[in-house]
Amino acid sequence: MWNYGSVCANGLLLLSLLSISGYHTAEIPWELNDGHPSTTDAAESGSFFERSSDSELKPWSYMYGQMVGVGANGPQYAIGPSEWHTAYEACGGQRQSPIHIEPAHFQANTGSPALKPLTFVDYDDAALNDTWTFLNNGHSVQITASFITIPQLQGGDLPGKYIFKQAHLHWGSHDLVGSEHVINGRRYPVEIHLVHQKKTLPDATAANFSDGLAVVGVLGELSAETHPLFDSIIHALELITSPSTTASVPLPGFTLSDLVPRNHSYVRYLGSLTTPPCSEAVIWSVLPNTLPISQNQLNALRRLWSKTKRSAKNNANAAVVLEDNFRPLQPLHGRTPQYFYDATEAQI
Ligand SMILES: [Zn+2]
Repeated sequence: MWNYGSVCANGLLLLSLLSISGYHTAEIPWELNDGHPSTTDAAESGSFFERSSDSELKPWSYMYGQMVGVGANGPQYAIGPSEWHTAYEACGGQRQSPIHIEPAHFQANTGSPALKPLTFVDYDDAALNDTWTFLNNGHSVQITASFITIPQLQGGDLPGKYIFKQAHLHWGSHDLVGSEHVINGRRYPVEIHLVHQKKTLPDATAANFSDGLAVVGVLGELSAETHPLFDSIIHALELITSPSTTASVPLPGFTLSDLVPRNHSYVRYLGSLTTPPCSEAVIWSVLPNTLPISQNQLNALRRLWSKTKRSAKNNANAAVVLEDNFRPLQPLHGRTPQYFYDATEAQI
């Protein structure tokens, strides 16, 4: 459970606090902040990217021509992906994400020296009080928690230890789209990003360093099988259907390892945040082995609302469905992804 006092100290105005059958939600006006909670634990992520409106130089969207408000000079529109660079210069850079990972990139250990295994340290640890915080920031759903020992990403030739900050998802309006990374020409219906920050860097500056962040990309594949612990996440989404809403939810038994396939093969390349400001600060590890996601779980994601508003003149205040929140593929610009093949565990 997060500390409301420190939330207020961070400048968030909580309009209302609700307690609904054991869940705690806070509704926050999205004009003020991204609603991200802070806690007394340094493990909590004060996410400095992929956040919502207040930190945006200019409103952005995954689509084009979406009205976000009415100013003194008339309607204001969000900029679409091909325009992001006009307000966020890095979005037009040379090491942008996501990318198409092609068959040629799956040549094991072609790097010099060869890549080493990734280690997910303390990924099996429960969150403090088994409580996870969910945020609909208008662009995605973001999941955080406090921990006694912060889970870390290590090994994998990373230049140091990286501490877990937050997880979030990208998904589509139908089952053939959703993931940001494309593997061998295939787009998956969902992609989970597990975001880590270099342990030695302070929050505010990590995105300014070329190795400041390490993100693991996990693809979800439509399956008749229902991942039971992932299902508990999906139920929590019902509490944050409105943009800029947070909910602290007890999820006994859920750990970050539930979001990672057992096989840890990965594709490594240097890239960026996939949302403005598109900082070129990310060491990417994309796992080609997938997690199963059911049709019901996908549908639950599609019931979330975006902060983006309809451009229809008389419907300016209507929220629209949050979906298709994936960025178009970016050119490699000479980058060659490397591959680590994990032969030690069975594929799932
Ligand atoms: Zn992402």
